[in-house]
Amino acid sequence: MLAQPVATAVHLRPKVTDGMDERFAETDPNKGWDIARHPKVAQTLKSRRFQFALILPNQIIFWLVIFLGLLGTVVPGLNFGTAITWYLWFCLVFVMMVVVGRAWCSMCPFGGFAEWIQRKAFWRRTQKSLGLGIKFPKSVARYGFLISVAAFLLLTYVEEFFNIAGPGAPAETSIMVLGIVVSALVFFLVFERRTFCRYVCPLSALIGSVGAMGSVAGFRTRDRDVCVACATKDCMRGGDSGYGCPWYTWPGSADSNLACGLCTECFKSCPSNNVGLFLQKPMTSVIAPRRRRLDIAWGVTLLWGLVLFQQVNATNLYASFDGWLNRITSLQYPNPIDYFGIIFVLAGLTAGIAWLVSRLGSRKVGNAEVTSRSRFRSFFVPMMYGIIPIVGADYFARQLPKFFKHVSRLIPSIGAWFGVGSTHSALYNTRLLSDPGIVFVQVAVIAIGTLAALWASWKITGRDLLPLSGHSATLRISVSLVVVACGAAAGILYVLMHAAS
Ligand code: SF4
Ligand code: SF4
Ligand code: SF4
Repeated sequence: MLAQPVATAVHLRPKVTDGMDERFAETDPNKGWDIARHPKVAQTLKSRRFQFALILPNQIIFWLVIFLGLLGTVVPGLNFGTAITWYLWFCLVFVMMVVVGRAWCSMCPFGGFAEWIQRKAFWRRTQKSLGLGIKFPKSVARYGFLISVAAFLLLTYVEEFFNIAGPGAPAETSIMVLGIVVSALVFFLVFERRTFCRYVCPLSALIGSVGAMGSVAGFRTRDRDVCVACATKDCMRGGDSGYGCPWYTWPGSADSNLACGLCTECFKSCPSNNVGLFLQKPMTSVIAPRRRRLDIAWGVTLLWGLVLFQQVNATNLYASFDGWLNRITSLQYPNPIDYFGIIFVLAGLTAGIAWLVSRLGSRKVGNAEVTSRSRFRSFFVPMMYGIIPIVGADYFARQLPKFFKHVSRLIPSIGAWFGVGSTHSALYNTRLLSDPGIVFVQVAVIAIGTLAALWASWKITGRDLLPLSGHSATLRISVSLVVVACGAAAGILYVLMHAAS
């Protein structure tokens, strides 16, 4: 019965004449292009087996990683588990984030495995789930994205402590992956829906923030008026054909791709066919959101502090400092004091610079006095969204040395299953780029990220910051200088890291 108004609304939509297929058209240009209007795409997304088909190959690979890491060769470059995880997978996930957004979440084996068990089904719509189904406490949930960032900082500390990633430790890699799978499973069995993905998953910190650059806006409602009249709200509560949103996202309210895991459930469950899958221009979710979140801004700042730490810790200066600190505290690398200390100092420094820029803001809005704190927030939050492209570029650049030096080892690592891979093979010893070549690419990636951040910050400043300040030219120059300084810091550190190694 509810389908009728939507059909009418669709029928009345103007045809698009700029060469784009009208089936991809959407009346609201802010939402982008609704690719689910294409019948074949819609048919695929409606299939309950679709997400299972996306997850299954990754599930097989990740269980292989776990078993081969524990039972296979201890030579990192010959162990398929370490080779695929550290030389290829990380890079691929970054490319997916930057190009698509939360693409990885739609095929993720961690959440996928736990969800199969929680739902007691691979793809079927079941009505009763396994587990306690407890709501995540509001007192914890209010920290939002920061919980995931904290989990990512801890996971990276563990990875640095056991030196799991470079050049790769097979057994430790398996234990780490297994640890994520088990944590996900525990959360899925204790809490309702995808509480783990929404609040806790360490990878979600990066995917959620850097993924804002991606060109998939996510699943969103086509016509809000239809939603207003909708009595069932099946997209949230679940219906006969689909589950209620596992990510607690109402597709009618999203103004960024942050919290849509692309699981397709709302598309299946909406009885009015009022949900589409929207593509957007790159960086839209960085620039466009009107409801910017403080937790995201602090999350980006801390992730920025972390990636800078990972660069600083490869310099000679850090080696001397960490060695001295470890001697006097009887701890070992990475000393937790300097690990967390440097991250927080660098994040604090970035926030401090945003505070300085906020001094250019007006002290009054209308007749009301603006507190220093709210002025800081008004500047800090948009500015941190603006540096997301540099943060993303820096994390990506950090992965490149392993890719360029070792990715060819993936083939001998597969050969090793059949007893033909060896450390003497040509592929094992082939590298795609020399060290200077890698540094050149890393600096180039940072330069591209800086240009993207300059563009995003320019747009954000024009819309969000200029109305708060009477110093428009000074403000634009200040924000741009902050962005350039961030890019320069990352680029210079790559040159110093190369010099140190
Ligand atoms: S949030 Fe984490 S566990 Fe959930 S789907 Fe994304 S990567 Fe997987
Ligand atoms: S998207 Fe949700 S609220 Fe809107 S019509 Fe569909 S089920 Fe109802
Ligand atoms: S149900 Fe819809 S809005 Fe929610 S995560 Fe899945 S695709 Fe995104």
